[in-house]
Amino acid sequence: MKSRNNSRLIRDASRYLVGGVNSPVRSFRYVGMDPKVIRKGKGAYIYDYDGNKYIDYVISWGAAILGHAHPAVVKSIRAAVKQGVHFGATTVPEIELAQRIHNAIPLIEKIRFVNSGTEAVMAAVRLARGFTGRDLIIKFNNSYHGHADYLLVKAGSGLVTLGIPASLGVPRDYAKTVLIAPGADANALERIFSKYGKQIAAVLVEPVGGNYGVTPPDYSFLSRVRDITKRYGAQLIFDEVITGFRFHYGSVAELAGITPDLICLGKIIGGGLPIGAYGGNNEIMGNLAPLGKVYQASTFAGNPIVMQAGVTTLEILESAAKEYSRIKDLTEYLVLHLKEQGKKNNVDVRTSFWGSMFSVKFGSKRLFRKFYRILLDNGVYFAPSEFEADFLSLAHTQQDVDETLRAVYKALKKL
Ligand code: PMP
Repeated sequence: MKSRNNSRLIRDASRYLVGGVNSPVRSFRYVGMDPKVIRKGKGAYIYDYDGNKYIDYVISWGAAILGHAHPAVVKSIRAAVKQGVHFGATTVPEIELAQRIHNAIPLIEKIRFVNSGTEAVMAAVRLARGFTGRDLIIKFNNSYHGHADYLLVKAGSGLVTLGIPASLGVPRDYAKTVLIAPGADANALERIFSKYGKQIAAVLVEPVGGNYGVTPPDYSFLSRVRDITKRYGAQLIFDEVITGFRFHYGSVAELAGITPDLICLGKIIGGGLPIGAYGGNNEIMGNLAPLGKVYQASTFAGNPIVMQAGVTTLEILESAAKEYSRIKDLTEYLVLHLKEQGKKNNVDVRTSFWGSMFSVKFGSKRLFRKFYRILLDNGVYFAPSEFEADFLSLAHTQQDVDETLRAVYKALKKL
């Protein structure tokens, strides 16, 4: 596989960008190789500067659910750009996206758009603290909710990948406002609440874990979390930045039959452009400025191009029930065959999946690196870390998955 142009670009990137990237996991440090500089994407494929094509399972970290450069999304972005790219005032696409999200997830009576998942979670936590008048929050071990200071406490995602227990630059007093609960253990959570209950503003949950490999949801655990938080008057925040609109036209909260107080969204709802959002019922959202005393603002929030890309994406997803189910089945097919081939080759490969999300772990960085390299050499682009989730988009076909499996078989034979 040719890589001359890529090597040159990475040299330039490293000269001017920290680690050659704008977000750590993109650096491919975990897999010990140069990352690919991406020239373009179309559907399920991405292309580098040496003429190589890859089947993409990163798919913009889950955001590009329709595949890259979907014609309808591109068309609507083009039309929106012509009207002016930003005003810092309310525009119609904002109203439309808010209404669409409300119709899909009725518990979101009011929504506030921001520019990233990180901002959404930060603001939801502030709102929960303001609403309850309490300071402590609970997050689960190995979950990731963005890079807010107090959330970089034993977080998963890039941090685990880089082997850093927490980030420098986070004041100890901030970290003290977050309690870490072990995963899916309602009794442990109950114990934390019996000690700190009246001080806890909120519990933050990723209903489907996506930042320490894929962890399927445990509905009975989630419903215990709902009971406990209710009993103590704490807010339940579902972080659905990855999972919102990923498995069906709506939230995991609905699939689980649980009503959290706040839901954070991101990724998919912006049609691949930068976005975050948080919402809940009128009562809690009414505490937000300008109606209430919890402050949160942003120059670029609700950007009309982003909103329009989101509206078009959701319009397509609304009638995509069959497609959701097709990519769920394809994911299962991919993962089960991968697992079976691992067994055949005596490789201890640990897979997990939920809907169109999956992850592949070897419990050995050395093995993962080898596996990853062979996949990439054979035109398959997985997330460059065992702890990140891989995704299928609506653009992935049976043929793509079969081609992927051929690369997987090659790799597993050589491990
Ligand atoms: N919450 C979850 C569950 C996430 O997976 C992420 C990022 N992948 C975030 C929050 C932060 O989102 P962003 O990277 O858009 O700030």
